[in-house]
Amino acid sequence: MLRISELTLPLSHTEEELNAAILDRLGIPAGELLSFTLFRRSYDARKKTAITLNYTIDVEVKDEPAVLARHAKTTNVGPTPDTSYHYVTRAPASIKKRPVVIGFGPCGLFAALILAEMGFNPIILERGKTVRERTKDTWGLWRQRELKPESNVQFGEGGAGTFSDGKLYSQVKDPKHYGRKVLAEFVAADAPPEIMYVSKPHIGTFRLVKMIQLMREKIEKLGGEFRFEQRVEDVLIEDGQIRGLTLNTGEQIEADHVVLAIGHSARDTFEMLYERGVYIEAKPFSIGFRAEHPQSLIDKCRFGPGAGHPILGAADYKLVHHASNGRSVYSFCMCPGGTVVAATSEPGRVVTNGMSQYSRNERNANSGIVVGISPADYPGHPLAGIAFQREWESRAYELGGGNYNAPGQLVGDFIANRPSTGLGSVEPSYKPGVTLGDLNPSLPKYAIDAIREALPAFEKQIRGYSMHDAVLTGIETRTSSPIRIKRDDHTLQSLNTKGLYPAGEGAGYAGGIMSAAIDGIRVAEALALDMMAQG
Ligand code: FAD
Repeated sequence: MLRISELTLPLSHTEEELNAAILDRLGIPAGELLSFTLFRRSYDARKKTAITLNYTIDVEVKDEPAVLARHAKTTNVGPTPDTSYHYVTRAPASIKKRPVVIGFGPCGLFAALILAEMGFNPIILERGKTVRERTKDTWGLWRQRELKPESNVQFGEGGAGTFSDGKLYSQVKDPKHYGRKVLAEFVAADAPPEIMYVSKPHIGTFRLVKMIQLMREKIEKLGGEFRFEQRVEDVLIEDGQIRGLTLNTGEQIEADHVVLAIGHSARDTFEMLYERGVYIEAKPFSIGFRAEHPQSLIDKCRFGPGAGHPILGAADYKLVHHASNGRSVYSFCMCPGGTVVAATSEPGRVVTNGMSQYSRNERNANSGIVVGISPADYPGHPLAGIAFQREWESRAYELGGGNYNAPGQLVGDFIANRPSTGLGSVEPSYKPGVTLGDLNPSLPKYAIDAIREALPAFEKQIRGYSMHDAVLTGIETRTSSPIRIKRDDHTLQSLNTKGLYPAGEGAGYAGGIMSAAIDGIRVAEALALDMMAQG
């Protein structure tokens, strides 16, 4: 197989034109080309009137050695590199001990899958319900203001990203191409095949729910055992080695190899681990609001006359502003054509986040507009970031009216520093509802000041961004974990607890679905090799 890169064509080209460009690049007649598959397709919209598509394509030709020899000095034609996944070991059929995976979000899912594929028969403990039951409970908060503390946007089968935009891109270094394995498994579980090649793949909520179920069934067939509604409440550590777990049912499980993939909202579990002496330190995260604008405004600004083209879809954006008080304000988890969702897991608190469907065809674009904060803002204790989050989330609940409404304000009013009294042209999508007013008391002053400065500054990057009627809802606090459960860089085990593999977003080693899934693969490999070494 040959790989051609940097093949550029206009946005609206035909299949024949793509075919012709491949032949032209390789310098072969049509009869020599056997087949081709897209490896990557991205767009370049810097010139809005001449948007182009950029391809990397894998090609089969009749005489590959001859074509390769002719292109020995061409940088964008060469042999296709091996990006397939290779297992690091295989468990013997006689293996008796079983590793335990705590949490079935993207990290736990891929840790469990890889362990199951290698023959280690993992036990998966998940505090929440199966994804179908969890969906009903999650909608219960959005429609009836009823929060189930163990079954919500954060907790349950599929983890935090199940009701999401399902963005699958990540900035993490991935020299072993684990991301390809993740995408291939998603496609095998019925994700849209295009996620294998588009530069910014996404899946959307409804599809994710079905995929999670199919992936659980696959792990079960491979020897994995699932236990839902089983929360790990305690850990048994002897001489710096994990020995067992206690569940909410009272049951005790022996375990000396445990993947800890509990996400960033398992505050009770963080507290328990800290009390048991597992090494934890505070880490930076971000706080802010969700901003909602008409999607058409974003599309027009990003794509000009190309707006609405099916290949481009709904436009996203990425914004950064360095404020004069030294804080950085940036867009976070931008959801094109989506909705703002209630994302608390604790009663009496309000947290926002965003999701979308695969079609991304809702009226509004939404994004977190958040300010970076660090342990200097919540000093004194490794878990102080959790107390900080709780304090502001409770305040948001009160400002919303004490009924899970989110406090909100129009962008124009927020910039002018006056309370909002009525909506304009942008209808906020947050359910159960938005209580308009003054967002000043909803976050620390340094964050309010920085966002107030950033919104007009973003106007330079997206014309119309500071439009009066755009809506801010608050608050965003669960942008990433407020702690890091530190691990050894080589063994990936906790710094002071052998056999415990802190992983994914909750442990501070991932930020998003893809990076959490990749981290799950990494810890599964390290754990499997350690089990094999111990015999
Ligand atoms: P989680 O997904 O949080 O999973 C942890 C699991 O552990 C949970 O299921 C929880 O119930 C379980 N658990 C916790 N404690 C215990 C315990 N004591 N015992 C047993 N089980 C336990 N990221 C993206 O990349 N793209 C997006 O579009 C995107 N959109 C998002 C939208 C929303 C609304 C939210 C909330 C998040 C979104 N994210 C998105 C972030 C993404 O979901 C997370 O980064 C990712 O899910 C982290 O994966 P994880 O496996 O580390 O943890």
